[in-house]
Amino acid sequence: MTLLAVDRLSKRFGGLVATEAVTLTVEAGSVHALIGPNGAGKSTLINQLSGSLAPDSGRIVFDGEDITARAMHERVARGLARSYQITNVFKRFSALDGVALAVQARSGSSLRFWQPVRRERALFDEAAAVLDRVGLGARKDTPAAALAHGEQRQLEVALALATNPRLLLLDEPMAGQGPDESARMIELLGQLKGGVTLLLVEHDMEAVFRLADTISVLVYGRLIASGPPAAIRANEEVRRAYLGEEEVAT
Ligand code: ADP
Ligand code: MG
Repeated sequence: MTLLAVDRLSKRFGGLVATEAVTLTVEAGSVHALIGPNGAGKSTLINQLSGSLAPDSGRIVFDGEDITARAMHERVARGLARSYQITNVFKRFSALDGVALAVQARSGSSLRFWQPVRRERALFDEAAAVLDRVGLGARKDTPAAALAHGEQRQLEVALALATNPRLLLLDEPMAGQGPDESARMIELLGQLKGGVTLLLVEHDMEAVFRLADTISVLVYGRLIASGPPAAIRANEEVRRAYLGEEEVAT
């Protein structure tokens, strides 16, 4: 089943075409990796999908509904979320409090009829479960600012998961991390696989080829290939345009 269909999505910045008629589909339950050189338009595409950037033309259909004109919060309410870097305000909260706030933002009205004490209990139980899911269960009372760099990235994933997404957009979740932290994030993404559909921008080709069911390759704003890892690895145009410069794990 197709969860997300992107149809000829284009975005210009002045004379620069950042995404040029990008068409791709993301299947429910899959991990779909988006790769390509720096400046290829990967983040621009993610921003259009999350709703932080309006496309010039094209359509975004999520779960059968055209959401191209929907605001970001409307997309989140429908189950399309992305992770963001934690802000300084959030860094003052414990991991648990931060995630509980995110859970509350999602479920505020659905908890309306609950008694305050039970409501609070439900929020914190769910927040604790989300932190367990990302491997931060033992760190729930730690202020976000005191978490290690890699743990903060895990918390960012937790904050996105707290909105209960069906499709989670991740733009370089391993960026700036050491090998151990990257390995932990790859493990986490592997555990999420199947439970939530992932559209992942990542430069670590070993991780991409290990995790992804489908890989799409963006070069100068154009999608040059989309398919299973084996087909992408064997694709001559992809090798010439991108993979040739990288160490491709086999
Ligand atoms: P990637 O994430 O693949 O590295 P980006 O989507 O960030 O690529 O950028 C694609 C192109 O669009 C780049 O040439 C970049 O300089 C340009 N670009 C991105 N955002 C903006 C912006 N807000 N204003 C002008 N140009 C931008
Ligand atoms: Mg980018």
